[in-house]
Amino acid sequence: MQLKIAILPGDYIGPEVMAAALPILEAVLAKGGHSLEYSFHDIGGAGIDNHGKALPDSTLAACQAADAILFGSVGGPKWEKLPPAAQPERASLLPLRKHFKLFANVRPGFLPPALMDASPIRPDRIPNGIDMVCIRELTGGLYFGQPKQTSALDDGDVEAVDTMVYRKSEILRIADVAIATARARGKRLLSVDKANVLECSVLWRKTVSEHVAATAPDIALSHMYVDNAAMQLVRDPAAFDVIFTENMFGDILSDEMAVVCGSLGMLSSASLGDITNRHGQPFGLYEPAGGSAPDIAGQNKANPCAQILSAALMLRHSFGLNAEADTIDAAVKKTIADGIRTGDIAFGGASVGTKEMGAAVLERLA
Ligand code: NAD
Repeated sequence: MQLKIAILPGDYIGPEVMAAALPILEAVLAKGGHSLEYSFHDIGGAGIDNHGKALPDSTLAACQAADAILFGSVGGPKWEKLPPAAQPERASLLPLRKHFKLFANVRPGFLPPALMDASPIRPDRIPNGIDMVCIRELTGGLYFGQPKQTSALDDGDVEAVDTMVYRKSEILRIADVAIATARARGKRLLSVDKANVLECSVLWRKTVSEHVAATAPDIALSHMYVDNAAMQLVRDPAAFDVIFTENMFGDILSDEMAVVCGSLGMLSSASLGDITNRHGQPFGLYEPAGGSAPDIAGQNKANPCAQILSAALMLRHSFGLNAEADTIDAAVKKTIADGIRTGDIAFGGASVGTKEMGAAVLERLA
């Protein structure tokens, strides 16, 4: 297979973790006899600095010509004085998701038993680790609804408005992704909303219930209010399997999932839509769950596993290369099982740097 990938390293730790991940991707594909063509493009703060735009036209064109996007992370203090709408994340990642209609964000959350000490959860609560998936609706809801503005009022006060909007069709298509994910796992699906307060959530719950009953009777569907879900996720994370929810709730819950799983540095994500690539597979954007971690950038400290696992997710979802993806996942798990840790998962023990972690995973590719 010939794979054409747009690489968007971004800012701060983005280029560092990308540099650690690419040799692994190259090695796995070369071993499988596949040909990899990739090119690097500025995004986020790098786009602003080098092209005057967080999402430069040349970057968008390269993404359009590619089968998939491998993304690092964007943003940081260097650009935080820009107006909110020009901030790197808002002006690059959100338009990219919108442009490619990437409405589903799939985040696997796993904590192998060997990493138990990295989780803030008591070991006796998670004897077998954690293995769940969080699916977040990505292009609707409060982050995109109009009106979205700040206005000076006649009485001298200032008012800001964000609007949460969902269409039934948006709920149905994310429900289909959630159903497919649940079907490939334990056939249990938890839908999270706030139907006791929000109109959008009332529509969400009704639509999901009817859709699962009509199209997926094999799936055991349950519902939970978001405040309870946030609580249960720390009380008993091992009880979760596939959880899916709207944009803002998913933003928050997926980060909570990341922390109970030990570190943002271990968690990958896929953003998928219904556009297909040259291979007839879903076009997608693949990125670590965390941000650009400016506090540790430039120090060879960042954990590259999230970026490496994002490359594996890309092989799985956008190319159907499940064996190659499994090889990468297994190499990461073996590295962790061998006790190799970066600072975020070492907690006082010995740790290696970003480059060394990448090299350790590379060595363990079967
Ligand atoms: P962050 O995820 O960058 O960092 C939060 C904490 O997690 C930090 O202590 C950081 O050091 C740690 N961390 C994150 N990734 C790590 C890794 N791979 N290895 C080890 N530790 C890691 O979140 P933040 O500090 O709130 O945001 C920093 C910048 O990143 C902001 O400008 C924000 O807008 C941006 N951001 C970008 C994305 C994205 O590109 N998708 C996502 C979230 C935040």
